[in-house]
Amino acid sequence: MRVLIALFVLFASLPLNAEEKLKVVTSFSILADITRQIAGDKLELRNLVGADADAHLYQPSADDAKAVLNADLIIANGLGFEPWLQRLIASSEAPGTRLDASAGVLPLMLDEDGDKVPDPHAWQNLANAEIYVQNIAKALSQADSANAAYYSARRDAYLGEIRALLGEARQGLGQLPPAQRSIITSHDAFAYLGQAYGLNFIAPQGLSTEDEPSAAEVAALIRQIRADGVRAVFVENIRDPRLIEQIANEAGAKVGGTLYSDALASTGPASSYLGMFRHNLDTLLAALKP
Ligand code: ZN
Repeated sequence: MRVLIALFVLFASLPLNAEEKLKVVTSFSILADITRQIAGDKLELRNLVGADADAHLYQPSADDAKAVLNADLIIANGLGFEPWLQRLIASSEAPGTRLDASAGVLPLMLDEDGDKVPDPHAWQNLANAEIYVQNIAKALSQADSANAAYYSARRDAYLGEIRALLGEARQGLGQLPPAQRSIITSHDAFAYLGQAYGLNFIAPQGLSTEDEPSAAEVAALIRQIRADGVRAVFVENIRDPRLIEQIANEAGAKVGGTLYSDALASTGPASSYLGMFRHNLDTLLAALKP
């Protein structure tokens, strides 16, 4: 009897029993992949904004609300990227721990209609991705201490891959001549990449994808492309390509391919975070190299 009581006390004090996995919700596809790279199959993971989808314009479903309510851990990007998640957590009074994966990133501040706001797209700099990985691994280990050693081993292996790609990006993009460093994309999603490697990203849409640009703004951008001789114009996977195609056409520039901004691809090499970054890097280099 005493053994049974001792066993009962032991099991009751464990945060999770052997069959019950930690329930984690991630806000969008990039965080879902980074979390899976660290956690493998140790979690029950539910992601909200899927591949090729636009998190800026997302409308959560009733199922999303239920998942958030039942989650042990909710992993968001933060920096104002998911206002809808904030509302969902507040209205459901979800008891799970919320983590902002970007905590500790030095945010770029941008001007949005006269207000200074943080740019949320911090994952486009691999050095920031290292911070995301550290934050997520730490939160997983705290919520599920039985698997802490497993999470740290996978974190370290993943950080090694991130640093190797960072070295390649630095080397490849570092060789571009100053005249080949302007790039047109649909919305302002690449400022962190631009800052890290001295590239100048210009977009007809602002930080969010919500506001459509005016005819005057589009005309100004076309003039700028012509005047600067910009060769690199790209569509984004989360956006209707027609505006960018029209701009490229009128400016006499060519569309250099698709860049993945705020979501992974549903299949293929860009369906993981590092695969996506490599795709963007290769696509930029192919268009910009003299
Ligand atoms: Zn965006």
